[in-house]
Amino acid sequence: MQAGVIAVQGDVAEHAAAVEAAAAAHGESADVVEVRESGVVPDCDVLLMPGGESTTISRLIGREGIDEEIREHVASGKPVLATCAGLIVCSRDAKDDRVDALGLVDVSVDRNAFGRQKDSFEAKVPVNGLDEPFHAVFIRAPLIDNAGDGVETLATVDGRPVAVRDGPVVATAFHPELTDDSRIHDLAFFPDREVVA
Ligand code: GLN
Repeated sequence: MQAGVIAVQGDVAEHAAAVEAAAAAHGESADVVEVRESGVVPDCDVLLMPGGESTTISRLIGREGIDEEIREHVASGKPVLATCAGLIVCSRDAKDDRVDALGLVDVSVDRNAFGRQKDSFEAKVPVNGLDEPFHAVFIRAPLIDNAGDGVETLATVDGRPVAVRDGPVVATAFHPELTDDSRIHDLAFFPDREVVA
């Protein structure tokens, strides 16, 4: 399986390790490629859109023409895991002119909306499809304030969605790559497959 990590900015190595671990649990291997220019995404089976700074990521993927390739990837039904800033970039509306929201996840988001006190926090979050709660790390996370009918909520904090699935895209407000737990990557990329190891 070829896994592309959108690597224009943000935490890339951690996602690479998590997707490798998720693949290994299914007896597969993941070849991880870092995507910094156009022409790479079309060869990828799955994509990861890391956290970072959504305004910067949006500008760079637009400039490089990677944005259209991501749209085509999703249109052909191939999986994406988008985390934090990745969720913002994939949303329908980021309420910020500097973010060209790709409209791949039918949600609107408020950037940095958890407020100063909860600027960064960690929580044990129950996630649909996982037996045990997930240790979720939130860093200046976006808030999903509206989700369309086709969006499945996978997890909530204080009644607000923090992990969602919209077709082939799983998006989280938190950072699943920052713990050793690769279950969210597994959920995104191997939704129907038994763990063999
Ligand atoms: N606050 C960042 C943004 O708005 C996202 C933070 C993150 O990815 N950890 O882009």
